[in-house]
Amino acid sequence: MNLGLVALVSLLLYRHRRLSSLLVAAVGVAAIVVRGYVVPYTPQFAPRLVAASPLPDDFFKGGPEASERESLTVTDVDGETVLSKLAAAGAVVADGELVRPAGSIDEAWHREMDRLADRSLAELAATARETLPNVDTVEGFEDGDAEWLAVGTGHGELVARPVAVAELAAYRALGESVEDTGVRLAGARAFRMFLDSCPVCSTPLEESSEVSCCGGYSDPRNSPDDLLVCPTCRQRVYTFPTE
Ligand SMILES: [Zn+2]
Repeated sequence: MNLGLVALVSLLLYRHRRLSSLLVAAVGVAAIVVRGYVVPYTPQFAPRLVAASPLPDDFFKGGPEASERESLTVTDVDGETVLSKLAAAGAVVADGELVRPAGSIDEAWHREMDRLADRSLAELAATARETLPNVDTVEGFEDGDAEWLAVGTGHGELVARPVAVAELAAYRALGESVEDTGVRLAGARAFRMFLDSCPVCSTPLEESSEVSCCGGYSDPRNSPDDLLVCPTCRQRVYTFPTE
């Protein structure tokens, strides 16, 4: 959290004063490295934030190194390129100012999501291994009320179950029209922005903000990341990219 705050302050300053921004970044990161935190009283309030976070507790308690990860896929294709390649393949179509999945792809995607929604975590993990070329080691991980796929060895990096369902389904649906594996993977990730209900529990998704859980940020001129979250699964399903 402290690193994020330093990054945020640096970014805000960066708009106006590049030198001081770099200084904040350098001093801030150094302070975190030396003290473990830069915000005063972090040891007092951090545990409360951790308690409010959906991430499993042991990840903050000196347990195995693991963190939430945005996607099952790994890609170096940027968003604009992905959309233009998906459009060229007929997988997404323009709808006024917006794009949306093409009809047949959209149907295939939702059919696949429905099929995967009831799978156990172990079955979902097996499907991820069989389906995705970039995923070798993946296991189900349950933490009280949240369900994840842990990707990688050890505790791995945690991908929320709704994210995994949406991406696996999209990867399969895109196979009909997209040959390039890299574009297909990136497309599977991007397709989550088109979700309006949770692929696991069908609850309508809500827009939320990165910091609404913490109440520590209230500058109206600079909005933090906007998220799509499932209020029932209590997990984020999509993070809108900041400009
Ligand atoms: Zn849900």
